Amino acid sequence: MADGGGAATVRTTCPYCGVGCGVSAVAGEGRVLAVAGDRAHPANLGRLCSKGAALGATVGLEGRLLSPMIGDREVGWKQATALVARRFAETIARHGPDSVAFYVSGQLLTEDYYVANKLMKGFIGSGNIDTNSRLCMASAVAAHKQAFGADLVPGCYDDLDHADLVVFSGHNAAWTHPVLFRRIEAARARGQKRVVIDPRRTDTAEGADIHLALAPQSDVRLWNGLLADLIRRGAVDRDYIAAHVNGFDAVEAALAEADQSPAAVAADCGVALADLTAFFDLFAANPRTVSLFSMGANQSAQGVAKGLAILNAHLATGRIGKPGACPFSITGQPNAMGGRETGGMANTLAGHMDFAPEDVARVARFWGTPKTAARPGLKAIDMFEAIHDGRIKAVWIMATNPAVSLPDAGRVRGALGKCPFVVVSDCVAETDTLKYAHVKLPALAWGEKSGTVTNSERRISRQRPLFPAPGQARADWRIIADVATAMGFADGFSWADESAVFREWTRLTAYENEGRLLNLTGLMGLGRAAYDALEPVQWPAPAPGVGTPRLFDDGRFQTPDGRARMVPVRPAPPGSATDAVYPMSLNTGRIRDQWHTMTRTGLAPDLCRHAPEPFVEIHPEDAEPLGVTEGALTRVITARGEAVVAARLTDRQRPGSLFMPMHWTDAFAPSGRSNGLIAPNLDPVSGQPEFKHTPARVRAWRETWKGFLLTTETKTPALPEGVIWRRIPQAGCRQFEIAGRGDEIEREAVRRLAATGAQGQPLAYEDVRAGALRLAWVSGERLTRVLFMTTAGTLPPRDWLIDLFGQALSPQARGTLLFGRPAGPVVDAGPMVCACLKVGARAIDAAIAAGAGTADAIGAATGAGTNCGSCRPELARMIAAAAKEPVHAV
Ligand code: SF4
Repeated sequence: MADGGGAATVRTTCPYCGVGCGVSAVAGEGRVLAVAGDRAHPANLGRLCSKGAALGATVGLEGRLLSPMIGDREVGWKQATALVARRFAETIARHGPDSVAFYVSGQLLTEDYYVANKLMKGFIGSGNIDTNSRLCMASAVAAHKQAFGADLVPGCYDDLDHADLVVFSGHNAAWTHPVLFRRIEAARARGQKRVVIDPRRTDTAEGADIHLALAPQSDVRLWNGLLADLIRRGAVDRDYIAAHVNGFDAVEAALAEADQSPAAVAADCGVALADLTAFFDLFAANPRTVSLFSMGANQSAQGVAKGLAILNAHLATGRIGKPGACPFSITGQPNAMGGRETGGMANTLAGHMDFAPEDVARVARFWGTPKTAARPGLKAIDMFEAIHDGRIKAVWIMATNPAVSLPDAGRVRGALGKCPFVVVSDCVAETDTLKYAHVKLPALAWGEKSGTVTNSERRISRQRPLFPAPGQARADWRIIADVATAMGFADGFSWADESAVFREWTRLTAYENEGRLLNLTGLMGLGRAAYDALEPVQWPAPAPGVGTPRLFDDGRFQTPDGRARMVPVRPAPPGSATDAVYPMSLNTGRIRDQWHTMTRTGLAPDLCRHAPEPFVEIHPEDAEPLGVTEGALTRVITARGEAVVAARLTDRQRPGSLFMPMHWTDAFAPSGRSNGLIAPNLDPVSGQPEFKHTPARVRAWRETWKGFLLTTETKTPALPEGVIWRRIPQAGCRQFEIAGRGDEIEREAVRRLAATGAQGQPLAYEDVRAGALRLAWVSGERLTRVLFMTTAGTLPPRDWLIDLFGQALSPQARGTLLFGRPAGPVVDAGPMVCACLKVGARAIDAAIAAGAGTADAIGAATGAGTNCGSCRPELARMIAAAAKEPVHAV
């Protein structure tokens, strides 16, 4: 398609969350990219959130891996491919197929996933391929399979428009799936009710009709209590149960084992009885209910039970397969669903087939290989444990960063350090995981890849290329196919292009299909042109041009007798309990403007200004006796490790609970990694780790000095051991916030380091008595480096100094450098609230003080919230905080 100016507009799909928004992109010279929401895409109807809107800032080639590398040596593809194939083949020959493994990612496209799975399960003959979706979705997958007979998501986004009640269970949609949340806001205007079940008062909970700030890990008790209440008041659908559901009696009997009175349930869940009964009333009164559940439910040692408890409530009331009524698992990653479909998980085969002998035989027939794995492989945590103890001797990690993202990340690093052969394919040159790679393989990034992804509502969309492949980077499926060919499997891996991979995949879904709902028959005949032109479509796709928005509308499920199964679930304690040493519960999760380990969103400075550095949220009542103050560096300690991050005191956090974001890595803040603190407590069925609860304690860190370094140098300085640093991306320089607990020897070491390699003349101001040091280096008219340190005083806002890096220094500006403030008034924009329009908290506070009482009014005054709208819940919260009133929906 061409726009009015002649530049080609390419319709593609956002690479971040599971909403799967359509993106209209226009690429220009020098990898300049303009993006907008694709109005024709049914998932987002033209909207994008702050992350999607900033995609143009993330497509540069800075930091890309552009050549295959063996060790630190750049090599050609032939050499790298031959080495990977030889080492894998030798390891398999010597130690068997289960001595090798692939650890893959929801960032891969469906075609990549299909090829990786085919190589490992079909031709190597091991089940040892697992995906980082294990960390997000495995519990929902297991619950779906038990209840519906297969991993089937019943609903679609339209159901959110039709629903009269939306329940968010462990799902901060306002931050994690912002475009979906905006869609729900529209339904709210016509009176749709909202209930949020979450220990934290998140932006999703602000403005909800009911927020149940339940005690950590008490979800099963709460959903069981709801079902018991529905039975008591006769609000279950006996006709639907009789016609379509097994297991109701067993569930009812299991419920009777405990006191299900609302008072007992409220007490066990730590919520007010009035709030609980109000939720029960709302649920009973609204047949059109959608229950969204996500990481808060899944990432638990009882994640499957939580999912089943939600599914039980919907099956018992017949609220499934109808407009506006369904349980709805929302995926975290752009193609978590594609991985689930193609067998990216160790315990499934491709096409929603399992390891039943007839399924194994069918897949083997289709692939024409007798070696097809006959039993499941190791799930993620067990896989890295097997690497640690030497059972797995060669691993290939694709498009993911387990050295950061897995729980007990220190042990994962230990495992990778011991592994005889580690291959990592990625699009970036530096991640915490790449440090362990013997071979690095350059993959295409978003904007270069071509293939398909499936979003949370089973909608398959095309990711289309915008730029030619840079350097030697290649598509993941091609890299895998080349290795497979070099291992002697050419016959199974000789596709001409990704459309041919897609055709083979769709044929597998249709192959001997006698009732599998994952059926892409209608897409089997797509030639290259039709594949390129493919419009978003929801599976099952039984015929060309036909998709399926909603499953189970006929009451038939994918079980042998066609009936759904209710499964008794009982509350269980978390994987590990708090005690006197670790009395608090640490919860980890995402923040609004960052994605995963920041390899992409960390390239967009504007996305880093809403939450510039890692933090821990703590209730003021918990902080005060510990001497922890707002913004102060604070230790978060668990049995697995320790982090040092800034404290955020907020009553949105439940007393006794803590929250840390999961994004920061060694590249941005080594002391701020949360996943090194997490115990690998797993759900026994799904193998999903319990990221939402780790016993922890908090202590003040108490620095003796603090400061900041601004530099045009792109290398991270090697600061003395013990100095805490956080890198904050900026447009004209790199910002490092630093602090230490040492004496003047440590400060002098930092000062010397800051001076090393600095370009230009140093300007210095020092007040030894006041403990203040200010240094600036100027080369010609350019500021090249700034170091400010203080032992007792405060530090100035950084924005005016950062702005000076982007301009020729005037004599006046040069003169102000060492005063520590600009010539005019100090302008501190505050934390960035609106990333799109670059509006800081100070401007919004001023607008509210001037009378702006709605998000629209703030938008009119400042522009905030008028583009993607991701910040509108925060605007509502700021208005309410100013008025000291409950928040109303905006
Ligand atoms: Fe991308 Fe945001 Fe849409 Fe998610 S909601 S797919 S991150 S634009």
